[in-house]
Amino acid sequence: MKFGGTSVGTATNIRGVENIITSNEKKIVVLSAMSGTTNSLVEIASRIKKGNHEGALEIVNDLKQHYLSTAKELSSDSESFNKLEKLLNSEFEILAQKASEKYSDQLEKEIVVTGEIITTKMITLYLKGKGVNVELLWALNFMRTDNNGEPDYYYVQESINREINKYPNCNLFITQGFICKTMKGEVSNLTRGGSDYSATIIGAAIHASEVIIWSDKDGLLNCDPRFVEQTYPLKTISYEEAEELAYFGAKILHPSCIFPVKGLKIPVFLKNTMNPQAPGTLISADSIGQKGEIIALAAKDDVVAIYIKSASMLNAYGFLLKIFNVFNMYRTSVDMITTSEVAVAVTITDTTHLHDIVRELSKFGEIEYFENQTIICAVGNIPAQQSDISVKIFEAMSDIQIKMISYGASKRNITMLIDSKDKTRALNNLNKNLFKDKLCSVKN
Ligand code: ASP
Repeated sequence: MKFGGTSVGTATNIRGVENIITSNEKKIVVLSAMSGTTNSLVEIASRIKKGNHEGALEIVNDLKQHYLSTAKELSSDSESFNKLEKLLNSEFEILAQKASEKYSDQLEKEIVVTGEIITTKMITLYLKGKGVNVELLWALNFMRTDNNGEPDYYYVQESINREINKYPNCNLFITQGFICKTMKGEVSNLTRGGSDYSATIIGAAIHASEVIIWSDKDGLLNCDPRFVEQTYPLKTISYEEAEELAYFGAKILHPSCIFPVKGLKIPVFLKNTMNPQAPGTLISADSIGQKGEIIALAAKDDVVAIYIKSASMLNAYGFLLKIFNVFNMYRTSVDMITTSEVAVAVTITDTTHLHDIVRELSKFGEIEYFENQTIICAVGNIPAQQSDISVKIFEAMSDIQIKMISYGASKRNITMLIDSKDKTRALNNLNKNLFKDKLCSVKN
């Protein structure tokens, strides 16, 4: 089971988690940092980088007060609070020490994972204080990435099973999400929101019967409620559909977190800690959506579209190879591609090397690029002959400029690029046109 930041964000919510995890089945519980912590830690690192150590310490103290007041609320008497207070004093002392050190990338990495370390230590101590038979597994003892930054599955499997076997009489383990170490043994992380990924890597390593990702949402919704008025949770969805949605912007899941469990067919449930009775969403191999149905929409912002126009592309071979070599050279992943006889358009989201890429591409043709673009992705089971879906989509988009469109590589999605300013309108129009029947029964 994995619990997100909001699920462990207040004393009341921590008690809710306690009720869920203290059932009898053997389980590993992966915890994120209390909500808001990682953002504060990123800010601490940024202040250190600017040489503003005093400012960094201010945030350390605010965080400490926040954790102490949560601990106070959790404690039934002064003895249990004293234990938690002692732990928090010593953990925040370490963080304060780091806040006064000279900035380095490694220091930043060590700082941003502190939230998971403190949260798991505090909650384990709290549960132990209540007589719960629970052990803390130290993620740095088993979660390791390889030379490509990918999980080292063999190492994780060997190491976590070794750690668990140290406690034959224990059925409940808590561990840190997000945090990992590299091949060199340095502390690192699985990128923002990475606790989901930790959970499914662990699920695969122990061949779990299921992985449950608990958040503050009733599962995966058909559309993002921040932009669309009416939404509803999806009951079931396939691994591939979930992957597409996570990659193209569904915030509830880390984009990489389906991969570890997919091959082993371990089901993933998305459930709501605030509403544990709700069925949530089941992600599995069997839950292929009905043919000819779009089941959900996602949107990814901060996309850059690059257009490459060249007469020498006409009837030539090897042109795409040259272009993609440039993206390869700068280790930049391409999301969408469309081509005509004399032009290629691609989108990227990692703009670290945008200017180098544009300079290199200019050797092959005329280049234009546009920022502030959004990818809208409609996911489902869409056979090529299903023309009514295209009609509904184009109807919904009739007053919105579609800059690129991609369909056919998989039958799982139709992807469109639009100006970010049109995003809310596009999502609402599509939501109404594609899910009309289902929306009738939605109350929100
Ligand atoms: N605490 C980390 C973050 O905020 C990891 C996570 O919550 O999954 O990104």
